[in-house]
Amino acid sequence: MVSTIDNYDLSEHNTFGMKVRCARFLEYDRPQEIPEVLRLAAELPRHIHIGSGSNLLFTQDYDGAVLHCRAKGIKYMDMIDRVNLVVDAGMKLDDLVRITTDQGLWGLENLASIPGEVGAAVVQNAGAYGAEMGYRAMDVHAFDKQLGDTLYFPQWDCDFGYRTSMFKAPENKGRYIVHTVELLVYKFPCPNIEYPALKKVFEGRDPKSLTPAEVRDAVAAIRRDKLPDPAVVPSAGSYFKNPVVDREVYDRVVAAASGLTLPHYDMENGKVKIPAAWLIEQCGWKGKSLGPATVWHNQPLVITNPDRKAQPADIIALERAIAASVLERFGIELTPEVEKV
Ligand SMILES: Cc1cc2nc3c(=O)[nH]c(=O)nc-3n(C[C@H](O)[C@H](O)[C@H](O)COP(=O)(O)OP(=O)(O)OC[C@H]3O[C@@H](n4cnc5c(N)ncnc54)[C@H](O)[C@@H]3O)c2cc1C
Repeated sequence: MVSTIDNYDLSEHNTFGMKVRCARFLEYDRPQEIPEVLRLAAELPRHIHIGSGSNLLFTQDYDGAVLHCRAKGIKYMDMIDRVNLVVDAGMKLDDLVRITTDQGLWGLENLASIPGEVGAAVVQNAGAYGAEMGYRAMDVHAFDKQLGDTLYFPQWDCDFGYRTSMFKAPENKGRYIVHTVELLVYKFPCPNIEYPALKKVFEGRDPKSLTPAEVRDAVAAIRRDKLPDPAVVPSAGSYFKNPVVDREVYDRVVAAASGLTLPHYDMENGKVKIPAAWLIEQCGWKGKSLGPATVWHNQPLVITNPDRKAQPADIIALERAIAASVLERFGIELTPEVEKV
């Protein structure tokens, strides 16, 4: 069924807790309803499909239609040592992680506690602790607005990269609505606990003795220590991308850091990825506020709205202040990971 509500309050549909409204809110239960949803959306000047709004910052009331998929189904195709899951886009990623790991299936446990829905997780190639949605997504069913039909994209056509995919590429922005995702998970143990924080938790344990639920719980516990729970402290997770710079820029930053050890990751293309959190912390922003917007005390990459009093402009003012100090001190430009609408 398609439901339509005009002049709708989006507070519960964005984890920053912004009290913004959209001109029309359209929800649907089945992929077959997408053409009807798009017809209703076309009566307004623009539209956007959202999941849980955990990577979005609505900068003002939205004069268009906001689309959302309510479908949360999951089907299992058993294949001896693995299972192909056919999952609706509207299922919460964390629910999927809990359901599969409780059944002893491996592959999604490191993605525990990432807010948001399965469809968006594919679009974003959500990832954490050495795992990414794109590793498991074998086939993505997406409605192509240009062709007016559903297309099936195998993994190799999705162009998964660091927090990106073909569905998010600028030339495709808004073109596809992901409605179903086929994911491959395993019955045999294949723990991915190389990430230092996880390695530490399971030190001395035979990896083969672990269960996916144990790894999921460890990931969730590590995340609870580091990140704010969006239900309690509104945020959109990591606000900035980790900058990827040329080696000369990195060398210059090291020189400017006067004796500090600069964490970094050497990339295959000769470039260097620098943790934005480190740069922000060095500029003294950890735990600091600018008006009602605050940098999270345990993870400076996260901008929060702790008292739910911040307006979009307050978040953007803090974003700009942080970016300006990092640019001034290190000569590195930070780009937001969070998408402004
Ligand atoms: C506390 C916190 C921690 C976080 N930690 C992580 C983390 O560890 N790793 C990580 O990767 N991310 C993390 N995030 C960011 C966020 O959870 C992910 O980006 C998530 O995948 C977004 O899902 P969503 O359903 O909220 O999508 P939304 O924010 O609603 O949308 C994101 C994008 O996807 C598009 N979209 C949504 N649904 C569809 C669809 N069905 N078809 C086509 N396009 C669609 C939207 O238009 C938008 O462009 C975190 C966020 C928070 C608040």
